[in-house]
Amino acid sequence: MVKQYNIHLQGLVQGVGFRPFVYNLAQALTIPGSVRNSNDGVEIVVQAEERQMRHFVKRLREEKPEVVSITDINVSETDCPTPSDTFRILPSEVHSDRITQISPDIAVCEQCLDDIKRQPHRKDYPFVNCTNCGPRFSIIETLPYDRPNTTMARFEMCPHCRAEYEQVENRRFHAQPVACNHCGPFYYIDNPAVNPGYMTLLHKMAETIDNGQVIALKSLGGYNLVCDALNGEAIARLRKVKQRDAKPFAVMFSSVEQAREYVHIDGEELKQLTGWRRPIVLLRQKKNLAEGVNPGMNTLGVMLPYLPVHYQLLECTETEVLVMTSGNISNEPIVMEPSEAEKKFTGKVPLIVHHNRPVFNRVDDSVVFEEKGKTQIIRRSRGYVPEPLFIKKEAEGILAFGAELSNAFALGRGNQLLFSQYIGNLHEAETLQFYEETMSRFIDLFRFTPKLLVCDLHPDYFSSRLAEYYATAMGLPLLRVQHHHAHAAAAMIEHGYDTPAIAWCLDGVGLGTDGNGWGSELLKVNYDTFERITHFENMPLPGGDKASAEPWRMAVAYMHRYGYTVAQYPSDFMENVGSGKITMIEQMIRQNINTPLTSGAGRLFDAVAALLGICRTSAYQAEAAMKLEAICSGDYTSCYPNPEGRLLDFRTMFEGILNDLLKGTDKALIAAKFHNTLCETLFYYGRQAVRNEGTNSIILTGGVFQNRRLSGMLREKFENNGITVHMPEMLPCNDGGIAAGQIAVGISKRNA
Ligand code: ZN
Ligand code: ZN
Ligand code: FE
Repeated sequence: MVKQYNIHLQGLVQGVGFRPFVYNLAQALTIPGSVRNSNDGVEIVVQAEERQMRHFVKRLREEKPEVVSITDINVSETDCPTPSDTFRILPSEVHSDRITQISPDIAVCEQCLDDIKRQPHRKDYPFVNCTNCGPRFSIIETLPYDRPNTTMARFEMCPHCRAEYEQVENRRFHAQPVACNHCGPFYYIDNPAVNPGYMTLLHKMAETIDNGQVIALKSLGGYNLVCDALNGEAIARLRKVKQRDAKPFAVMFSSVEQAREYVHIDGEELKQLTGWRRPIVLLRQKKNLAEGVNPGMNTLGVMLPYLPVHYQLLECTETEVLVMTSGNISNEPIVMEPSEAEKKFTGKVPLIVHHNRPVFNRVDDSVVFEEKGKTQIIRRSRGYVPEPLFIKKEAEGILAFGAELSNAFALGRGNQLLFSQYIGNLHEAETLQFYEETMSRFIDLFRFTPKLLVCDLHPDYFSSRLAEYYATAMGLPLLRVQHHHAHAAAAMIEHGYDTPAIAWCLDGVGLGTDGNGWGSELLKVNYDTFERITHFENMPLPGGDKASAEPWRMAVAYMHRYGYTVAQYPSDFMENVGSGKITMIEQMIRQNINTPLTSGAGRLFDAVAALLGICRTSAYQAEAAMKLEAICSGDYTSCYPNPEGRLLDFRTMFEGILNDLLKGTDKALIAAKFHNTLCETLFYYGRQAVRNEGTNSIILTGGVFQNRRLSGMLREKFENNGITVHMPEMLPCNDGGIAAGQIAVGISKRNA
């Protein structure tokens, strides 16, 4: 018997080609009815027998476009229908303040790449897109997602494009950024009013790159600096432009085959690399690019083209691999405005290429890696933002300010957590401005009314200060959450924990409740409270922040703590640092001058890397730890004696390392033994806590777990012992994910 069914779908279902897909499926199955966008998803009405309807829903789920994600399907039967014999797409209905999900930006699709070879009005057109691909978040100014609400509003569709936009069967039906050579945006050099001709410009870019120069190119979410990754001089020029000494650059290969020449790619990595999000994937390197691309690393950040201009540029250049890095100076945010690009890059690069489709929301390239079958995200931006995290609780009105480094903030809207794109390090004045600007854009875009503000316990973080200012100005309550409590709570809410969790939180530093710097915390965590089970012993941090930039200071701190004298230092450490500086640090520690205490695990890596001579001063955050990981040999079992006692101290390990150095043991083996020892220690204490608690899972989080050797080994060890490991997956385990935990704690305290 034919009945009428209402099918309500929620998730990422708008602006991603879902309605035409539904229409075509209904046509193919000759099911009459309708589909339309509603304020909180998509409404489908079908007239069919129950069996037919089930088949239809099954195929909806199985065959939906790749980007579509359905979080909820609700089917209800309605009253006896007036029989219909067609299936129609009805106009959208938007009312109430409920929000629909906004799609992240999507890499250009195969069909569009094909269109620019075949469609006369899109011949070589670099801004081609359709309902399955193209810019989304980067161009949206306000909801609903309709062209007048995007930065495409200024471009009037030509009759060709309009016809495609209005035709249900067309792949560009309601593709908001639809454009072509006649009506859409174009690339230009100096004068935004003059289209210099794309092919001419493209060849000019290719020629400049092949000559070993750097170009600035406006991309999707801001500018990129681009040069030949096989030309050492070009890399040196790029480092000068960016004022960046050593931090590894990401590269773009023309194809997977090209990439395979330089890196290993396994199945899961291939999926990441070629998926629609198109992030930078950290891959194990097998052959070096030009010197200076990623000094001291054994992994390479790789991405594949995601814009037509990338494909076309790599077709024109002689080189098959380009360095493609954020267009910014040092730690500043990625440049997004043409005027800003002119100001920053004129005189530094010979060619700056703009386009006239404004970026509204700037987004960097995202960075991910895969370890033991699990993907971890390091930087969450293009292709991911603003996809929400759905939680089982009500988070409405909570605004979490995040931490200080790798900042991202988050807001709670119903049962969704919406995260900002990667903002960066808030010490920079321009980054702080980007932070405030993005926060107000998110508040507008998601029609958000803050009711509770949450920030870190550290009063000097710029994020905390801003939160305090807003709390006073708006008369709102402000909650301060301890850094590692937030780290753990973020993983808990992502993985749906209801009961207390055991968590290892390892990072550089976060302010503890005792006023010391923490960062190696084994915690028993509830959403509203936490207990510190154990941690690495407190060490002096000689010079405060300076110690993080100069790992040799930490080596001295550890050596001093364990009673070593100047004479007992490894000889090359003495040669490079000198007894004068060592004595000075020892004195600082003894007299307690500018020497706060820290238990941050990052500093242990610093000390060991400095002792080994791998990194005595660091040019970027976590350089010492990254280099220490990179040089490890293949030994996964040899260990130094484990620390004992309630507070973890590493006296016996340092003794072992110094002995090994004296014996001339290969540093690669020492580094591996250090990782193995740390892994054993974390496992030993972690397992004990899990057992005591009577649970069977553990959370691993904090920036230190971006060390894939450590996180991979430790995960395996726990899992071989029947303990499930949960790490943040949708969010970074570094401070970029902390806002989720701040919201989680906010929810529980608000309800208390
Ligand atoms: Zn497309
Ligand atoms: Zn057109
Ligand atoms: Fe942290």
